[in-house]
Amino acid sequence: MERTEFISKNPFDTWQIGERLGKMAKKGELYLLYGELGAGKTQFIKGMARGMGIEDWEYVVSPSFTLMNIYEGKKFNLCHVDLYRIESMEAIELNIEEYLQEGIVAVEWPEKKDWQIDAIKIILHVIDDDTRKIELIKP
Ligand code: ADP
Ligand code: MG
Repeated sequence: MERTEFISKNPFDTWQIGERLGKMAKKGELYLLYGELGAGKTQFIKGMARGMGIEDWEYVVSPSFTLMNIYEGKKFNLCHVDLYRIESMEAIELNIEEYLQEGIVAVEWPEKKDWQIDAIKIILHVIDDDTRKIELIKP
């Protein structure tokens, strides 16, 4: 296991940290993003999208009426999943494996589901209005 910690002082920092990760991302990786509402999960994924060469990275927003949004990157896709509104995963089939074949999958509110696949965890802690501690845990 490998653990790295970053301090972000504003959303631009968070984009940059996400961007670095997005540049290193490999097809088939699953990213689970933990943190309270407003912690910066979506901002972080925006940065990842920028790192993956997704042209419309600025328009990456949480999928609110669908479970997932799919963006086409330079080398492979970004599948952005948000489980915030999900009460129970019982009736929901995400078919994550299928999306991992086409790129990476990044999940907000991953605690709503059991994950059998090895994942990279990103934990965002709110320190104050503008400061976030971002923990990166690789298996
Ligand atoms: P989440 O997806 O975790 O609910 P969002 O990324 O949608 O959170 O929103 C984070 C909010 O916090 C945004 O309004 C953003 O402007 C604000 N913010 C303030 N400081 C930071 C920071 N350092 N990193 C990320 N977002 C920040
Ligand atoms: Mg969000």
